[in-house]
Amino acid sequence: MSSESRESASAQSQTAALACPHCGGPAVRGRPRPGRTVRYRNLAALPVPADISLPSCPRCRIEFVDPETQARLQPLLHEAYRRVLQQRVRVSIDALMRHISQRKLELLLGLSQGYLSRLRSGGGNPSPELVSNLALLAGDPVARLAELERYWAEPVAG
Ligand SMILES: [Zn+2]
Repeated sequence: MSSESRESASAQSQTAALACPHCGGPAVRGRPRPGRTVRYRNLAALPVPADISLPSCPRCRIEFVDPETQARLQPLLHEAYRRVLQQRVRVSIDALMRHISQRKLELLLGLSQGYLSRLRSGGGNPSPELVSNLALLAGDPVARLAELERYWAEPVAG
């Protein structure tokens, strides 16, 4: 067996192992291209690196992520997600700073002093929960900051 035919045999078995999760039909390796996204944790559309090829189903015209691609993608997506959280948290903090001081906001959220300025300068890794909370506050800062201050000032029933 020449090395060429061995290669094509292994490429063939790789292709045969790929089945469309939608229709179960045979899938093929798609071409790498920009503009594709995947759901990642709480993020609806995280961009897939342009040089990664995804299997696609010619019948359903969908691309999907198989376990092998998933293993390659995982560290890349993890890093991209981390950067998205860093970027989103900066946008929310900047919006909130027009209505409350950094220190007051840290106290209100129970964060350690200086943490928000670290996040603002692109350091640290904010949790998705913190990014969510800050996004909600930044959506209606005056009303929601007042609401949260009241919440922490009042005793809880029960
Ligand atoms: Zn299909």
